[in-house]
Amino acid sequence: TYIFINDEFVDESKGQVSFSDRGYNFGDGIYEYIRIYDGEVFTAHEHYERLFRSAKEIGLNLEDYSVEGLIDVTKELAAKNNVVNGGIYIQVTRGVAPRNHPFPDASTKPVFTAFSKSYDRPYEELENGVKAITVDDIRWLRCDIKSLNLLGNVLAKEKATQNDAAEAIMHRDQTVTEGSSSNVYAIKNGKIYTHPANNLILNGITRRVIKKIAQDLEIPFIEEAFNLDFLNNADEVIVSSTSVEVMPVVQVNDRKIGDGKVGQITKQLQKSFDNYIESNS
Ligand code: PMP
Repeated sequence: TYIFINDEFVDESKGQVSFSDRGYNFGDGIYEYIRIYDGEVFTAHEHYERLFRSAKEIGLNLEDYSVEGLIDVTKELAAKNNVVNGGIYIQVTRGVAPRNHPFPDASTKPVFTAFSKSYDRPYEELENGVKAITVDDIRWLRCDIKSLNLLGNVLAKEKATQNDAAEAIMHRDQTVTEGSSSNVYAIKNGKIYTHPANNLILNGITRRVIKKIAQDLEIPFIEEAFNLDFLNNADEVIVSSTSVEVMPVVQVNDRKIGDGKVGQITKQLQKSFDNYIESNS
């Protein structure tokens, strides 16, 4: 299996990162996760544009890289590893330097790593829906940056796992923000509600696709925050991400959503999402 590290494709066993990497010491870096469907990259431009935005927001210099160059790397890694369905994880840290909080010398090069995974789409869950729990959103106030600092997300997801749930839906003082690794939507009376794409959530690439699809289907897509009570009483609930796509949530904590079955609007969105994959990968 090949990985990509510091501008080279090497065997996984040869991939080594320094003890003094700032990603290791501080979580000082950013990442993306891009889906491969039928051997083709999906929404790769959008992902790499977001990577460059994250870099800019944390003052990480990516001037040696370009969106097109990174798409080529992504395609080559997928091809070398024969990934037909799966994904590519890409991470960039601020580089290797003695452990000191201030940014290292400007000549320090970012450390770029990527690996691939092969797996099928989560067909069973997409059809039947999953359970979610709710947890406090204890994260910092720049959740719009796809940063390596994922401790808040990790603790939330672990709590979901301990409770046999697929996702933890986070809230700040009752206001639903997003999932530990997904965006969250509540559907009520034929309208889709989701938290506005501000500093409190990651502006998901899947969220953007869902927004576009909803507009094409003429389903109102309302970017307004809602609370836990609204979530619990929604007709349908969805979480979305690059890996789980348009995932129905049929139970939140101990309570069924609607009649506990995957709803009609969710099914419409899933169908359009399938078509979108067909025509965009
Ligand atoms: N929010 C968080 C916190 C996430 O980790 C993810 C998945 N990376 C998302 C939302 C969904 O983003 P995307 O659709 O771009 O995968």
